[in-house]
Amino acid sequence: MAVVIKSIRTWKDDFWDHVDQSTAIWDACWEWKGERDKDGYGVFNRGGKHLRANIVGYQIQNGVIPKGYVVMHQCDNPPCVKGTHLGLGTNAENLADMAEKGRARGGRRTKDGQEPKNRRENRDVS
Ligand SMILES: [Zn+2]
Repeated sequence: MAVVIKSIRTWKDDFWDHVDQSTAIWDACWEWKGERDKDGYGVFNRGGKHLRANIVGYQIQNGVIPKGYVVMHQCDNPPCVKGTHLGLGTNAENLADMAEKGRARGGRRTKDGQEPKNRRENRDVS
């Protein structure tokens, strides 16, 4: 009689099942394929709890989130759950960042994630 070794699936396998890693571009985003909330963030259902996929992704790939910190997207792509695209910031930094993005809509930020403070003014001058 053959012994069937069933691999033990964990909730992490379940998580990765919902992530699109098909891109061949090494630095491209890994987008959440499952449910998304109204803001476009991935929703991961773990044992009946609805968790933000980017937060779970951060924890799986980067580790513990210290108290008082929030997970921020360095790629400005809400459904992205790639560990290297996720960073930590304080709540105040996150709000400031969102305000900055709101103003800078349509413009991509530079690779280091910082948009020059004077860029908006420059853009308005034709
Ligand atoms: Zn990304």
